[in-house]
Amino acid sequence: MTTEMTALKALSAKVGANPLLVQAAGGNTSLKQDGVMWIKASGTWLQHAQERDIFVPVAIEPLLDALERDDPACETCTDFVRADLNALGLRPSIETTVHASFAHRVVVHVHCIETISWAVRQDAEARLTEKLSGFDWAFVPYRRPGLPLAKEIRKRLKPRTNVLVLGNHGLVVAADTVAEAERLLVQVVRAVVKPARSLARYDLSALITLAQGSGYQPSPDKAVQALAFDERSLAMVSKGTLYPDHIVFLGAGIAVTEDGETPGKAAQRIGRAGRPEPKLVVVPGQGVLLPGDATPAMHAMARCLGDVAVRLNEADPVRVLTLEEELALVNWDAEKYRQSLPAA
Ligand SMILES: [Zn+2]
Repeated sequence: MTTEMTALKALSAKVGANPLLVQAAGGNTSLKQDGVMWIKASGTWLQHAQERDIFVPVAIEPLLDALERDDPACETCTDFVRADLNALGLRPSIETTVHASFAHRVVVHVHCIETISWAVRQDAEARLTEKLSGFDWAFVPYRRPGLPLAKEIRKRLKPRTNVLVLGNHGLVVAADTVAEAERLLVQVVRAVVKPARSLARYDLSALITLAQGSGYQPSPDKAVQALAFDERSLAMVSKGTLYPDHIVFLGAGIAVTEDGETPGKAAQRIGRAGRPEPKLVVVPGQGVLLPGDATPAMHAMARCLGDVAVRLNEADPVRVLTLEEELALVNWDAEKYRQSLPAA
């Protein structure tokens, strides 16, 4: 293994263990060397980069040729995997095309909470222009990952661009070494830090009583519980789905119980309106519940929402995904594959 690959694995594990940068199987990293791009495999967790094989080799030239012709093979990129180097038969990340779009050798994509709390705004590009004036950066409006996002990135990427903010999604940095990529990531995150309200207190025993017999469990996370006690947070996240991984792991937006309504009924009410039933249920002033069988990924995504919410204010012009955008994500085959993998 090359020293750069060793360094990439170390950075991946570090970034993956920071819930303010990456949650569950979200985010991905890559290294290009000798005509091959080693990219995180779909459904694997960056935080496991040093203990498991999570990187898949993809042949760069054929992938770039296919991107040039908008070839549907770019949706999953499985056709470009170097089978001779892929002993575990892993599939490349659903965001492989984002990484291939850069000529830089190292690309790091994170679902950075600070960045997302800007990227969910309708005025994200204008506001970030003030924050990121010292960077070679570009804003990419929300597109579904896969071919639609790759096409939009191609329109906006200049040869010098090494920072992308993806609307309603996250952050990408690119460099020629792992050390430079890490430096750039730290600098960008520092530039976009947003004040977060302090988290409310809650009473866990009252929450356990609340969940009893409902098939739900209280989230053990203070950042998640804040959604029930901080009116500004609740008002913002009640608007809908803020970013792709939320709907993929937790259904559309959140359910908020109305007077006397059970958590299950509140979730079904949203589902009946044609949107994927939300898994996260807020009982205002009392607590936040997740299904009794919630996976580690669902807990991590709930924490992500709590962390974004305490950085939003009532006056923020929040943009949520449209129903069409929500359905395009849940009906996308590459996403169905990612969700079908066993929870890490
Ligand atoms: Zn992403």
